[in-house]
Amino acid sequence: MNISIETSLEKARKFNRLRSAPSDFELENVKKELLALMHKKNAQIVCHYYVDAAIQDFAISSGGVVADSLEMARFGKESNAEVLIVAGVRFMGETAKILSPDKKVIMPNLAANCSLDLGCEIESFKRFCSNHPNRTVVVYANTSAVVKAFSDWVVTSSCAVPIVNHLKENHQEIIFAPDMHLGDYLKKTTGADILNWDGHCVVHDEFKAFELKELKSRMPEAEVVIHPESPAPVIELADFVGSTSQMINFVASSNKKKFIIGTDNGLIHMMKKKAPDKQFFEAPTAGNGATCKSCAHCPWMEMNDLRDILAVLRDGQNEILVPKEISYSARKSIEKMLAFNQLKHVPKNRKTL
Ligand code: SF4
Repeated sequence: MNISIETSLEKARKFNRLRSAPSDFELENVKKELLALMHKKNAQIVCHYYVDAAIQDFAISSGGVVADSLEMARFGKESNAEVLIVAGVRFMGETAKILSPDKKVIMPNLAANCSLDLGCEIESFKRFCSNHPNRTVVVYANTSAVVKAFSDWVVTSSCAVPIVNHLKENHQEIIFAPDMHLGDYLKKTTGADILNWDGHCVVHDEFKAFELKELKSRMPEAEVVIHPESPAPVIELADFVGSTSQMINFVASSNKKKFIIGTDNGLIHMMKKKAPDKQFFEAPTAGNGATCKSCAHCPWMEMNDLRDILAVLRDGQNEILVPKEISYSARKSIEKMLAFNQLKHVPKNRKTL
């Protein structure tokens, strides 16, 4: 693992270890104060499915949103709020700022990062792309603003397949970055000529096929629902592969009652809300005797805390700023993705295997 990922991961783990959980009394007071301040400052919370359940619930009850990164970006852009509070990781805050340059975008913790973003440093990526100048550069939303600015297309896991299919139909060869597992999945699903950057998500990379097969054999009635950032042998065992929103829609509409979930376990909170009569089990992350780095929960997502949201809104700290020229170029690639999704029908549920 590269040194910046290792260092950032260690800091996140330490931060999470040292922080004490709020009492119910403290949490209620924080929520009350935060709600009043949000009204006063015309602020809204834009929250990812992987953050703490208390933040997800508060975001919804206060008029904000809990969503995948595509919907977060869209919601932030269309919102009438003057301040967007992004509960997630850094690239999500940057995307919100790029699409809403006139809004103030703040985050509870600027150290909340992502192994995909950190593992795709711009100068190395430019060198990689310059060796393959005829390829179209497609990057995942989980990248820095400067990498997005350099790209031809930005995709999220909910729209990557139709966009790559569209590029293939137009005879384009592709560089895909930074998630190699998602890149492999796109290659297999679309048959496109894709050259992958070598990056991975510390959460999804740890799902284990052998243990998953074993769990599946003990629960043959359960459906296996997997995010495409997972390794290929894990994806091969899936009944359904899709983005976080697609995974939620799938479990809510399935007639099955049990599901094995292969993504960050923060998503299970929303699944339980949408399908309260169903049971969810985490896909195994570590082999016999092994230790896991994330144990199915992203240490950077875990850094988000309602107390910090209150503190940064009160003090106006942790503002996300993106230089104008980077923002301008990145916005073109992101807008292209949003426009594509409006033009083409991107299926909500997609059986793949
Ligand atoms: S779960 Fe993986 S892809 Fe998502 S923010 Fe964490 S490290 Fe990045």
